[in-house]
Amino acid sequence: MKVLVINCGSSSLKYQLIDAQTEGVLAKGLCERIGIDGRLTHKPTGKEKVSLEVAMPTHTAAVSLVLEQLTDKENGVIASLDEIGAVGHRIVHGGEKFAEATLLNDEVIKEIEACNDLAPLHNPANLIGINACKELMPNVPMVGVFDTAFHQTMPEKAYLYGLPYEYYEKYGVRRYGFHGTSHSFVSKRAAEILQKKPEDLKIIVCHLGNGSSITAIKYGKSVDTSMGLTPLEGVPMGTRSGCIDPAILEFIANKENLTLAEVTSVLNKKSGVQGLSGVSSDFRDLGAAMDAGNPRAKAAIEVFCYSVAKYIGAYTAAMNGVDAIAFTAGVGENDGVVRALVGEYLGYLGVTIDSEKNKVRGEECIISTEDSKTTVMVVPTNEELAIARETVALVK
Ligand code: ADP
Repeated sequence: MKVLVINCGSSSLKYQLIDAQTEGVLAKGLCERIGIDGRLTHKPTGKEKVSLEVAMPTHTAAVSLVLEQLTDKENGVIASLDEIGAVGHRIVHGGEKFAEATLLNDEVIKEIEACNDLAPLHNPANLIGINACKELMPNVPMVGVFDTAFHQTMPEKAYLYGLPYEYYEKYGVRRYGFHGTSHSFVSKRAAEILQKKPEDLKIIVCHLGNGSSITAIKYGKSVDTSMGLTPLEGVPMGTRSGCIDPAILEFIANKENLTLAEVTSVLNKKSGVQGLSGVSSDFRDLGAAMDAGNPRAKAAIEVFCYSVAKYIGAYTAAMNGVDAIAFTAGVGENDGVVRALVGEYLGYLGVTIDSEKNKVRGEECIISTEDSKTTVMVVPTNEELAIARETVALVK
């Protein structure tokens, strides 16, 4: 079966067509500037990349163009749309309703809509993608795969905030956690590499990218995670602040004469390593600036690594031990400096990083030494493949 994986944002749409049997990517691409003008980048495997400036007034128009490219005589990879057996949609927030991937029907779509106010920037966009596909491929089964689902196993003590309980009851204010598809995929793959069952392992996955989250996975289940009600909590990220003293909001609002919404926007868009360094949100730029002697870039990297190390410590305590620590996503897979700096805090776990192996980029590798008491590894994530697998499992 061929599965179309769709990750729909407010003005963009990423897609991959995956052959479920071989798990190979047949084509992938990106629609940008939907509703503005429109740009499509389509990469069929084994053929040249195609870039088109083409009008995309709506998401339906964007999906329609993607389907045209997939079946195009020259750039296409399938003869007809009948070859697409299912569509898997990434959905950011499933609230408490969705603890696993779910076949989409009208009732489920309504329940996803009910989660909109928990992720006002993401869920409505995800739903637009679902409706666009429904319109153009009415007979193809569709599955929703939720970023929050994997974390629904967290115990109450991990997901409740120290707030009036009625906020949880009335508005669902609690920790949900994100990147669940990635944390699930990477922890399972880490167990495979270690030739153990996930049920026998305590694993901490550090998904470090533009957005970063750390998850404690005990015997195959998420028991705690660093992101919260929204993806703003946790470690400082590319542009997001992560955890701060909540009183800072009012303090800065008063000092800078900003509304609450404006301060929240600063926390989302102008903070993190970008805000600290004044250089960039991209760790490649930060590394280069640090090497050139920029003290703020160095401080930003140090704040980030220290925060990651503190979560590892907290989650080791939460699970009463840890067998393996896996780094993944853009920074986790590629940035040996970050991994080494985090590793320096882990002496109490008997961790020693092998500096040669730690040079790895974007490949599976155990980067701790053979005598390291806790295994540290790099495990590239593949959220699209994970979505395709979950989709196939439900439509088969
Ligand atoms: P997203 O959260 O957008 O999915 P990714 O997981 O793709 O993010 O991570 C993107 C980030 O990964 C970039 O902003 C950059 O900081 C980092 N990154 C990518 N390649 C490298 C590299 N070779 N060295 C260091 N950092 C890298």
